[in-house]
Amino acid sequence: MKKARISKKQIAMVLVTALAIIIFLFIQINSSKHVIPGEMVPLGRIMIPMNSIQGLLQNIILMSSICLACLDCNKGFAIGVTITSVSMLSTIIQVAVGKNHHVLPGFAMCILTIAVMCVISYLLRIAQRNSVTDIMTGLKNQRGFLYTLEPMIGKKKNAIAYYLLNNYRAINDEYGHEAGDRILKVVGKKMQSVIGKDGEVFRIGGAVFSIIYKEGVDAEAKTKEIVDVLSEKTVVAVEGVEKPVEYFAESNAGVVYLNDRITSKDQAVKCADVAVMNATQRGMNIVALYDETMSLEEIEIKKTEQLINKGLKEEKFFFVYQPQYFVKDKKIRGFEALIRLEGDDGETVSPAKFIPVAERSTLVNDIDKYVLRYVAREFADIVKEYSDIRVSVNISANGFGSEGFVDTVKSIMEECKFPYENLEIEITEYSMSKNQEVTKRNIEELHKLGVYIALDDFGTGYTTLAKLLELKANVLKIDKSIVDTIENTDVNRKFVNTIGDMGHLLNCEVLLEGVETDSQLEYIKGMACDCVQGFVWGRPISFEEAIAKLH
Ligand code: C2E
Ligand code: MG
Ligand code: MG
Repeated sequence: MKKARISKKQIAMVLVTALAIIIFLFIQINSSKHVIPGEMVPLGRIMIPMNSIQGLLQNIILMSSICLACLDCNKGFAIGVTITSVSMLSTIIQVAVGKNHHVLPGFAMCILTIAVMCVISYLLRIAQRNSVTDIMTGLKNQRGFLYTLEPMIGKKKNAIAYYLLNNYRAINDEYGHEAGDRILKVVGKKMQSVIGKDGEVFRIGGAVFSIIYKEGVDAEAKTKEIVDVLSEKTVVAVEGVEKPVEYFAESNAGVVYLNDRITSKDQAVKCADVAVMNATQRGMNIVALYDETMSLEEIEIKKTEQLINKGLKEEKFFFVYQPQYFVKDKKIRGFEALIRLEGDDGETVSPAKFIPVAERSTLVNDIDKYVLRYVAREFADIVKEYSDIRVSVNISANGFGSEGFVDTVKSIMEECKFPYENLEIEITEYSMSKNQEVTKRNIEELHKLGVYIALDDFGTGYTTLAKLLELKANVLKIDKSIVDTIENTDVNRKFVNTIGDMGHLLNCEVLLEGVETDSQLEYIKGMACDCVQGFVWGRPISFEEAIAKLH
């Protein structure tokens, strides 16, 4: 069973309430003992009128009540008003029974305190409402959604739905943001009118809405109704746009019924996300009902595949270039092109995320071609001016091991007028374990053209020495995981040095990857190592920044 957690706010409220009650009781007991008006009581060496002390304590009670209203504009406010009212009642009794008119100012203070608490509570409620409201649509926002959802988790069987408007950006692009905003507003209203009293609609970001249905509602049918209604024409008039804007929503939705196995709001949200992704894969205007066989991992992979496809079609891939330097004089040897993908929200997606997904299918071959073409185009003029610069590209094991690979390289280099001698292709040890014969043949043919071959991430795979001899790489790139050990022990340093010697024996240039610190560099300078690539001398940078380094 879920343990009830006591918040700091609750502890503070209990303490403040206890303080107010204790002081109130203290006043009551003492006021029955000390009834003589103007009576003085000793406080150390000085005498203080009893009335002043009672007034001070009374004020502490009132301040405590105000604190309670500040802590919580509902429960705290109610407790604060109760304490102040009881205090006020006791004042009235004192006036009525004891004819003690000295307490009348206290009575006025109680009324003032209640008025202050009402104002505080009102303002806090407005602030609270604003913090959970989406200003554009007037619906509750993501925060409001999570607040509403939280108490239902593990207790109720309500359903939630995620609703994704897919083609809304097109309106923004074509008619401007005002049109887009108006569309969102109308969509929100239409959704709420279809749902009526069966649930509540929230706008949780961009073009994503969510719904919390009441228990017992057929959420799948209701959500389908929304999708259908919204796929019909929506018309909005927009200032500055001649004709009214017409919009036919293309949307998808995912529905989840809360149950005992959904034990947190995060999990509920994830399930709704999975369901809506599942719907998106199945087509347009689809509603998917979440079931536990839907795997998040598979859906993530599909999502990434879609992103790659879109990236290839809309040219959303771009490159950063990391400089490589000669150790002896810190001269630039060249650059390694590192791919990036611009995601849907404009964020940059790392190759560590999408390359493994692309490698599961032939998408990686399309990326290989994209890389070659993009980099050759970008650097074609530069390498004419700086003819000793080498530009390295990473090519997948699949691509490098395929029959037509050398022809692809030839046609792209010719198309871009990029000299073979300035091209370096990085392959990993893994390439050698795939299509060995074709890979070997391709290496030989590329050598003949003058293309350099670099063996990337050396030391992380299982290349046998025999394979290394066969491979005839021009460059051995020793992996960061090995470079990282350089500062550890003498044995580690000797080990790295021996790999470097072995590289030299095979006529390879030796490059250490991922060099991060000056102290690593100090060791490297005395080793069998020709070049370094690492944050210590240069992080991956834009094309413009890269060529500025050459000038
Ligand atoms: P890689 O080819 O070994 O590239 C070197 C990676 O190490 C880059 O990460 C680079 O930013 C990072 N790096 C370089 N120096 C340092 C350093 O001093 N410290 C640290 N912590 N990291 C350093 P990135 O760009 O994230 O690339 C990761 C991997 O993704 C690459 O490893 C490569 O295997 C793959 N990749 C990158 N671009 C492409 C591409 O165009 N095609 C293919 N198929 N794979 C690519
Ligand atoms: Mg590389
Ligand atoms: Mg590497």
